[in-house]
Amino acid sequence: MRVLLVAPPGAGKGTQGVVIAEHFGIPHIATGDLLRDHVERETELGQSVQACLDRGELVPDEVVLAMVRDAFEAAKGGGYVLDGLPRTMAQARAVYELAVELDMTADVALHLQVEDDELVRRLLARAAEQGRADDTAEVISRRLALYYDVTHPILEWYGERGILVSVDARRPAEQVGRHIITTLEVMRQMIDGNPGAPRRAIDLTGLGAAFGAT
Ligand code: ADP
Repeated sequence: MRVLLVAPPGAGKGTQGVVIAEHFGIPHIATGDLLRDHVERETELGQSVQACLDRGELVPDEVVLAMVRDAFEAAKGGGYVLDGLPRTMAQARAVYELAVELDMTADVALHLQVEDDELVRRLLARAAEQGRADDTAEVISRRLALYYDVTHPILEWYGERGILVSVDARRPAEQVGRHIITTLEVMRQMIDGNPGAPRRAIDLTGLGAAFGAT
């Protein structure tokens, strides 16, 4: 199973990325975590990106793409959950080219949908718990604006390619996780059974309402 996670900050990419990785026994490649690890260890790379991270701005493409290349090569043609990249259309194209080169193109682009009021609430709560440098009100609003500006438009491209799956991620994390795993398991059967078949985007964001959630 090869999954790209595309979602605004605070939607739960990290949490669900771990759930998917554990369930399928595949690596969770999280660019934000990899970058923060460099900052903590005060590596040369960490020092060069710290200011970008603190301000909620994007670090240069070549830095994150090099990290993803290493992680893809380590995954040796197997599955992966990529979390935090692509964030721009240019990154989406670059990671697609890389995946074609290594014969590891994504099966699913998983979009976690959550409304802004809830995102801000979650990020401020995380700020109180974990004290992440980029979880202040000002930086949160910059990261959200950046998401809508440059990341959200990528979803249309995945929709056209037929690999987009959108889920309602406003519900409690455990429910969202079960929903994602169920969906991916069903998709895996389809993909394994008929790998080259044309696909259509799947919109499951209305499921909460269908079952009486508010
Ligand atoms: P969130 O999704 O909550 O904003 P992440 O942990 O994914 O958090 O990313 C944190 C920060 O790391 C981003 O604000 C950005 O500075 C940097 N970053 C992560 N992934 C990328 C990427 N693909 N391209 C550029 N910068 C990135």
